[in-house]
Amino acid sequence: MTRDTNEIELIKEELVKRTSPTLTIYDIDANAELVHDILALKKKHNVLMLGHNYMEPLVFGLSDENEKGDSLGLSMSASKTDSEYIIFNGVPFMAETAKILNMSKRVFVADKSAGCSLADEFTPEDVLRLKELNPGVPVMTYINTYADVKAECDVCCTSANAQDIAMRMPGDSIIFVPDIYFAQNLKEELGDKKKIIYPNGNGDGVKGAICEVHEMFTLEDIRLVRDSFGIEKENPDGMIYVHWECKPEVLREADFFGSTTQIRKDIAQRVSEGSLKKAFIASECELTSNLMQEFPTVEFWTACYVRCQHMAKVTLKGIHDVLVAIDSGSDLSEYEILIDEEVARRANRSINKMMELSV
Ligand code: SF4
Repeated sequence: MTRDTNEIELIKEELVKRTSPTLTIYDIDANAELVHDILALKKKHNVLMLGHNYMEPLVFGLSDENEKGDSLGLSMSASKTDSEYIIFNGVPFMAETAKILNMSKRVFVADKSAGCSLADEFTPEDVLRLKELNPGVPVMTYINTYADVKAECDVCCTSANAQDIAMRMPGDSIIFVPDIYFAQNLKEELGDKKKIIYPNGNGDGVKGAICEVHEMFTLEDIRLVRDSFGIEKENPDGMIYVHWECKPEVLREADFFGSTTQIRKDIAQRVSEGSLKKAFIASECELTSNLMQEFPTVEFWTACYVRCQHMAKVTLKGIHDVLVAIDSGSDLSEYEILIDEEVARRANRSINKMMELSV
């Protein structure tokens, strides 16, 4: 590929502006040409490049503003595109949702072997077992599952709308899968308003799943951050943000808990009011890297050891390989997300039910 030296320098300048604990000058020098080539091929083939909030800054920066966000928001963007090709920079269960909503489009991921501890450890048989034990109780699945699990459930939810969707489903109980901590947190929030049934691995024989990344945060960690970073409780100058997938005691200690999008919105609101000076986010480390770039007036503390090994499999090189295969007309099966039509139709019903209840 021909490269204009000025263009490469411009890309480097742009990258240097990104304030991030995981992006060094060395990374920028080593990757500027690759970033240039990816952006050129993206443009040439009119590729929609969706970037999940947990992508490392160099990968996240390949996406335009309207191509960034959480898994459902990105899939919704995918449903509106006129691009023939969609590259989803995230893990396969996320790309599956984009495919379900756009069966006529071709959806790719850089590494199909990238998993997710929530999605990988929960099966359609687990849903059937829970239904058998709780006849007539609707099943709500967190979006972090594969299409075959969604196909067996009544409704889908995200971390942003789980409470609302649970309340809008009929009956006084709901089965929530697969995330055990999220279920316990929902149970605590909803109290007597709705009974949350979730896999517990004892009487039901279904063990459920946990996000191996958010599980790493302990109550001691949060208290240590509060003390050493000087974030006092009920002081709007400093905030500890925690994701729904963390342990219940970690949520209780937080100043705010929610989805990545809700956390981002709260930061934006506080920054616009001039109140937020420092923040710690108990979530995937690269979320903080990307927020640091977006909100340079806030001092963030980050836990760089808390990195999702699955998300980290999505690299510039992998994305470049997908684009080169598209450009050369090669076989794309190594990257393409394919879903059985009937499974996709039934999974789409769960997603549509969530949309219907969200309006
Ligand atoms: S951060 Fe957790 S939920 Fe997200 S992909 Fe990684 S393991 Fe799955």
